Amino acid sequence: MRDLADGVARFQRDVFPAKADLFADLATSHRPHTLFISCSDARVVPEVITESEPGELFVIRTAGNLVPAYTPGADADGVAAGIEYAVTVLGVSDIVVCGHSACGAMTALAQGHDLTSAPAVANWLRHADAARARVTAQARVAARGDVAALVRENVRAQLANLVTHPSVAQALAEKKATLHGWLFDIATGGVETLDGTGSLAAFATAAA
Ligand code: ZN
Repeated sequence: MRDLADGVARFQRDVFPAKADLFADLATSHRPHTLFISCSDARVVPEVITESEPGELFVIRTAGNLVPAYTPGADADGVAAGIEYAVTVLGVSDIVVCGHSACGAMTALAQGHDLTSAPAVANWLRHADAARARVTAQARVAARGDVAALVRENVRAQLANLVTHPSVAQALAEKKATLHGWLFDIATGGVETLDGTGSLAAFATAAA
């Protein structure tokens, strides 16, 4: 906690003054251009990967960057509420689902880890069932599990889940928003994009 307090002190002393005009504007204006959905993993920081300033990204982070499919009548669905708010109220023009290398959630699924001591995690990871089924069907899973293949299929599956949300479906139909699938590699800083056909293209290497 002391590290965090020291960080706040450094922010107030070194960072905030240089961005005072930006924060003054943001105090009365919230217009992010992108809804960025990533894993909660501490090594995946959307603003760092994209070099974004405060105010640019509306971020939702969940274990495994999972986006449960829309469930009519569900109460207390924070992910659905965040998606709806970003798309309908804030009017973001782009929506990114970003998976990443060495994802703990995908590793647990690919390698069949025993999650009986973490029942909430086990239950939550059911939202990756479609991705797991596809990888298994494609016979890409080696004896210990192909984590990279599951990470990739999971981004694809969560993009499909996103489209079940009425706010997203409407924005896509009206061509007001565009979906993007990304894969972030922790070791190299590289980002690959998943295009509309489901294939991956090199997009950028942050480390370059
Ligand atoms: Zn992860």
